[in-house]
Amino acid sequence: MKILSGFFTDELAVDLGTVNTLIYAPNQGIILNEPSAVAIQKYTGEVVSLGSQALKLLGREPHDIEVHRPIRGGTIDNFEITQKLLRGFLQRAHGSHPRRSHLVVGVPGSATPVERKAVRDAARDARAGRVDLLDEGLAAAFGAGVDFEDEHAHLVVDIGGGTTNIAIIASGGIVSSVSLQAAGNAMDEAVRDYVRVKHSIQIGELTAERLKIQLGAACDGEGVPCEKLGIVGKQLINGAAVPVDIGADEVRVALEPVLSQISAAIRRVVEDAKPEVTADIYYSGVVLTGGGALLRGMSERLQHDLSLHVATPDDPLTAVAMGAGWLMADPEKLNRASIRQDSPVWEDSEKLVANW
Ligand code: ADP
Ligand code: MG
Repeated sequence: MKILSGFFTDELAVDLGTVNTLIYAPNQGIILNEPSAVAIQKYTGEVVSLGSQALKLLGREPHDIEVHRPIRGGTIDNFEITQKLLRGFLQRAHGSHPRRSHLVVGVPGSATPVERKAVRDAARDARAGRVDLLDEGLAAAFGAGVDFEDEHAHLVVDIGGGTTNIAIIASGGIVSSVSLQAAGNAMDEAVRDYVRVKHSIQIGELTAERLKIQLGAACDGEGVPCEKLGIVGKQLINGAAVPVDIGADEVRVALEPVLSQISAAIRRVVEDAKPEVTADIYYSGVVLTGGGALLRGMSERLQHDLSLHVATPDDPLTAVAMGAGWLMADPEKLNRASIRQDSPVWEDSEKLVANW
């Protein structure tokens, strides 16, 4: 193992999320934390900018530039762009000396063999000499401080952008996992729909996300910093700009259906679990990670709906990258936890329908 680790000059853990990509390097911690967005020159295919620089252009792109969020709405909708994104971020992480590296990449538990192969290929294309894939649920749990050796079951809920992943883990492995599309992007979409119907205006995705973050709450009685936010929308009937004040109560109403879907899905996972697992979860509660954990009152809401204790790490957005990085430092544990390359050749079809 020593010889191997000498060969791979760089070891990096990557959380390639729908909304944010994080890269962790041993002894340095999180060295990159950027939106999973890339701006491409339409005619040459050249990468114009990456991450937050690219996201700034979203919705107001110059005519020859396209902004992509290539891991989106539950699907990798463009494999080549995902490759460009990953390559660009890794170049940034490596500095000016691109080196062959050992990458540990988190993938959702629900990823199919084809989707996993896509991630492996994208990582190899970015000059990775060795790629280990890790279930994100597992990585999130370790990142949130769950003991790898603990034989008792833990329920981990990661509310990301494209999906909410619900996993039960025990003894460093996955007992069961499901994912659903009720997550951050679905919340933004719900806010957009609400504003369109109630105020007859159209708003962009970034404005919807701003409303969610500034005014959103998962339960009543959560104090929000302001009760109203002034935004400018586009009137549906004539396309004119109109300023509107949106209230926190309105955002709460808009988010409610997505939040109850998340609660119901977690409840179903607990109901379907074996009795020993249910008993463990009664004591260990829920570990809540991902950007959705930052929604005001989210853990209180789940605590109330599920009658389980809910714990959130200090920084729920970095849990997957931290957990993957921590496992990377222990080759034996990494070997046990990483997803085997188990896809039969005939499943590696061209069709690429990812689910995160
Ligand atoms: P992914 O792993 O899919 O990239 P993340 O775990 O990084 O997703 O979470 C991103 C999601 O979290 C986005 O939908 C973002 O709007 C949401 N988010 C971030 N901060 C907050 C907040 N304070 N309140 C509510 N949602 C938040
Ligand atoms: Mg994530």
